[in-house]
Amino acid sequence: MIKPAIRNFSLTDLEQWFIQKQQPLYRAKQLYQWLWKRNIRRIDEITNIPKSLLRAIQSETWWDVIELFSFQKASDLTIKASFFLYDGLIVEGVIIPSNDRTTACISTQVGCPVRCRFCATGNMGYVRNLNVGEIVDQVVLLNRLSTDQLGTNLTNIVIMGMGEPLLNYEYTLKALMHLTSPEAMNWSKNRITLSTVGIPDRIIQFAHDNPGVKLAVSLHAPFQDKREQLIPLAKKYTLIDILEALKNYVKITNQVVTFEYLMLYNVNDSIDDARELVRICSTINSKVNLIPYNNVEGLAFVPSTEDKIHTFYKFLKNRHINVRIRKSRGQDIDAACGQLANKLVNK
Ligand code: SAH
Ligand code: SF4
Repeated sequence: MIKPAIRNFSLTDLEQWFIQKQQPLYRAKQLYQWLWKRNIRRIDEITNIPKSLLRAIQSETWWDVIELFSFQKASDLTIKASFFLYDGLIVEGVIIPSNDRTTACISTQVGCPVRCRFCATGNMGYVRNLNVGEIVDQVVLLNRLSTDQLGTNLTNIVIMGMGEPLLNYEYTLKALMHLTSPEAMNWSKNRITLSTVGIPDRIIQFAHDNPGVKLAVSLHAPFQDKREQLIPLAKKYTLIDILEALKNYVKITNQVVTFEYLMLYNVNDSIDDARELVRICSTINSKVNLIPYNNVEGLAFVPSTEDKIHTFYKFLKNRHINVRIRKSRGQDIDAACGQLANKLVNK
């Protein structure tokens, strides 16, 4: 039988494991805190659990810690880091410093099965889901890198790196629990944003499970046919169903949803598109982030001109949509959104 990764266990899973071993329950809590409050890298760092028990944990489970492999700093101080996984794969994360915050952008999968035509990660195909520990380790290691290189701790997390988080639902949710739980890493919930391409049933599920983090949805086109041309999976998960799910999401959570809208030249940047986007926004408590497209080598998409972005922005703004234009960061080292696709992955 393949051994489970100890860090894929929730606190309840750990308690079950300790009950089976006829151990007191408080041991599970102790182990949980070593794993998620102190973020230990090896089991022998634990000092208050009997050696015999540690040996049992060691022999019945395995560890999946990730290591910093390399990093590059851009002229605007954005840092792209690559991490080495237990099976030799590489995944990337980014630190984005700005005036009032230092944001970590982390990944949930190696590659991505959604295969959006404009996205570097989507074009490298799908390799595997990340484990819970592999997701959380990125925050731990990026925080270390941030203090070393920039002299500041991380303040925000965006799940906008490689992969579609709602297609790695269980492990992404567990990672969020560990990040936000006061007994673990105690991150403030409103400093974390999860971005999804839009999977209706998972959005509803997330409305119930979400520990309170913010939700962003990659819309990119307000018409079904146009969206399908950009996002192959949009045929299965239609705009109508996504919007319906989001209405329920807002009702259940009382939260505002952010729509991410990539500005692609002559694809989705017309006034017709803007008008339909306004209509959609009027039905859902939402904000809009317009994202300048970052070029991806080998792909035919072109960023909208600044003029077109501004006209689109004004059209929304004049109709009282809460809209802003996102600044692109780290472009000179290919660290910007949608540019993460390391060349070291052997598929
Ligand atoms: N899979 C999730 C989260 C990761 S992608 C999602 O799609 O939402 C994070 C964001 O980067 C998405 O809004 C995505 O559309 C955007 N993105 C992808 N490729 C991009 C590119 N080349 N330039 C700018 N943004 C891009
Ligand atoms: Fe996957 Fe998001 Fe890239 Fe689409 S944009 S391929 S969903 S990572």
